[in-house]
Amino acid sequence: MTMTNAVTFRGVSRHFGPVRAVDAVDMEIREGEFFAMLGPSGSGKTTSLRLIAGFEQPTAGHIEIFGETAEGVPPYRRNVNTVFQNYALFPHLNVRDNVAFGLRVKGVPKAERMRAADEALALVELAGLGDRRAGMLSGGQRQRVALARALVNKPRVLLLDEPLGALDLKLREQMQEELRKLQRALGITFVFVTHDQDEALSMSDRVAVFAEGRIRQIGTPEEIYRRPATRFVADFVGSSNVIPADFAGAGPADRWASLRPEDIRPDPAGRNATITSRAFLGRVVRLGLHLEGQDLTAILPAADTIPMPGESLSIGWDTARVHVMEPDA
Ligand code: ATP
Repeated sequence: MTMTNAVTFRGVSRHFGPVRAVDAVDMEIREGEFFAMLGPSGSGKTTSLRLIAGFEQPTAGHIEIFGETAEGVPPYRRNVNTVFQNYALFPHLNVRDNVAFGLRVKGVPKAERMRAADEALALVELAGLGDRRAGMLSGGQRQRVALARALVNKPRVLLLDEPLGALDLKLREQMQEELRKLQRALGITFVFVTHDQDEALSMSDRVAVFAEGRIRQIGTPEEIYRRPATRFVADFVGSSNVIPADFAGAGPADRWASLRPEDIRPDPAGRNATITSRAFLGRVVRLGLHLEGQDLTAILPAADTIPMPGESLSIGWDTARVHVMEPDA
């Protein structure tokens, strides 16, 4: 049985003159998955999203949406909708009219579009706020209206460009959970752009890590974290000790290995490190260590008795937790 992909990129590039915003990207986004595009600023995430939406055309390669060629199909016929970071609501219109606006442009009769707007508002838990002027809403409420405005079109793919970027941390975490729940309940494909690794790891079924217009790795959050493909991915997704594989006891000297700080532990039978720094973080303590010419970071449970800077600590790790990486392209 072959499963249809919601979105397929084959060798897709989008160059702007000399700038390779997106460069020979292959990517398959499965139907019904929560897919994050993660990467630093300028790595090509937004351009990839705009290519899916149809606001940009590839300069090379091929895009399919639900198995059909996307080139030449205008944005409004693609069955995808975008939630932008700046919500661009009409402040003078009420919430319901904001949500129904796209349907009005499409010529949907009034009674029907009002009903659809109220339905979408209920989905984002704003039922009852339909008559409020959009200019009077809080940041979190505006975010929900923007979401409702996309959902009212019943897209098969929802594209979200840093939709939580404008929210404070607490609201952001709450909306992360709600978005995830909403995606599960609706069963539609969400493609989510973020530069926040925690957000990508905690929300997504799979993550694509972008750098300089290329995808460095696609995988589940656990695969990306546990088995980063390259040094870039290991550094960008969580903090990691990037050390020679032979030093880690896991491979040849000419390869880099990733060892997560939480995988280093005190080990009386281990190697003798010097503590260079010590930060108490509540549940855990973060240690800077110097071991045989290498600087390491370790995260240890605060419950352990941990010596002070300048003192030594015998440490070890399970070599099964060491991941040997491919060279960065
Ligand atoms: P951010 O997180 O900052 O939004 P991003 O990963 O989404 O970054 P893109 O917006 O896709 O990155 O941009 C990738 C590169 O392409 C950047 O160097 C950007 O300056 C360039 N770029 C994007 N759009 C255009 C354009 N219309 N004309 C010229 N260069 C562009």
